[in-house]
Amino acid sequence: MPVLVMKFGGTSVATLDRIRRAAKRVGVEVAKGYDVIVIVSAMSGETNKLVGFVEETSPLFDAREYDAVVSSGENVTAGLMALTLQEMDVPARSWQGWQVPLVTTSQHSSARIVDIPTDNITRKFGEGMKVAVVAGFQGISPEGRITTLGRGGSDTTAVAFAAAFDAQRCDIYTDVDGVYTTDPRICDKARKLDKIAFEEMLELASLGAKVLQTRSVELAMRYKVKLRVLSSFEEQSDEAGTLVCDEEEIMELNVVSGVAHSRDEAKMTLVAVEDRPGIAAGIFTPLSEAGINVDMIVQNISDEGHTDMTFSCPVNQVARAEKALKAAMEAGNIAFSELVADTEVCKISVVGIGMRSHTGVAAKMFKVLSEEGINIKVITTSEIKISVLVERKYMELAVQALHHAFDLDKAS
Ligand code: ADP
Ligand code: ASP
Ligand code: MG
Repeated sequence: MPVLVMKFGGTSVATLDRIRRAAKRVGVEVAKGYDVIVIVSAMSGETNKLVGFVEETSPLFDAREYDAVVSSGENVTAGLMALTLQEMDVPARSWQGWQVPLVTTSQHSSARIVDIPTDNITRKFGEGMKVAVVAGFQGISPEGRITTLGRGGSDTTAVAFAAAFDAQRCDIYTDVDGVYTTDPRICDKARKLDKIAFEEMLELASLGAKVLQTRSVELAMRYKVKLRVLSSFEEQSDEAGTLVCDEEEIMELNVVSGVAHSRDEAKMTLVAVEDRPGIAAGIFTPLSEAGINVDMIVQNISDEGHTDMTFSCPVNQVARAEKALKAAMEAGNIAFSELVADTEVCKISVVGIGMRSHTGVAAKMFKVLSEEGINIKVITTSEIKISVLVERKYMELAVQALHHAFDLDKAS
């Protein structure tokens, strides 16, 4: 039987009623003759609640225990989804990550998938089971401990299963009806895209468009998974939603295809670090060992043998970063006069494959922001994206102004 992977995000399984509605969608695909692998997230808000419990209990928590706690939300929805399907006379069984087993690295709270043996689930399909409901976001490390794949990780579980089982398609059911030119929740002129290239989706995701987890797009690109994003709230045809596909399948490429934002960023500056070989390694090695996701890095010009080093990271990692840097200073590996954290910034990015062959996108972006009176604090660019850090209070304004300026607004 051909295999189909269907993933339901938190809002799509937020209540028993919504689980029933999702199960009905699954039933439709089973009736078409598919063996279905359903990947579920925790009920919406549940993972945040569990993360809150962990942080309140232990601010610099042991990531192994974080994973033990935050993975549990998915166990509930997996069991409930299997029960709901059984009530509809669809033969279904739930699987937690370790039961598959979905084997990951030992990088707790942001583990990567290493292997998904297919034998257990395939055997069950052979025995007449029609739906395998798998708890998303979680796996098991080689040491036998529960791991999680980073926030939004159920998308990655879904794509990895689609690759492992050579599925016909991987459908990501969520609370919007596809991928938009920007987050429709902060720009009402956002336009739904019928198709988006893997590379653009990869950038948008990594720059904050949380509609798909970055890793899931990487995997889909590598394993040629037919990946679709669609709404779980509307009746769907086989063409609904947004297809994430190869660049070649898209007729017209825009210079800028989308605007992304990442709200909870922080900018940290080490003032007056010695300007000598090895100093960057002295700063960023302890940060990496502490698991800090450093994003942008800027080193200022040197003045009398000293320089300022600025980097950005997620705002909830500031305490951990400060601890790591102070420890490095106490160990005598680095010296700085002050550590300044600006926790009121956000990152705004414009993305488009067309940038490869067009100049002037950066200049236009900076002009638009200046016309809105928005000060740029840090800039980074790559071949198909430009990102800036700005004050968080300007986030919506910046996204809307750029969306308009790059001709992305939907026709009204
Ligand atoms: P789920 O719980 O289904 O995984 P998420 O909340 O993780 O859903 O992702 C869906 C959300 O992503 C949408 O509600 C939307 O606010 C946000 N989003 C951000 N950028 C985009 C975009 N470019 N297109 C669509 N949705 C986006
Ligand atoms: N429940 C997890 C989260 O909220 C994983 C997911 O939904 O993809 O991050
Ligand atoms: Mg998600």
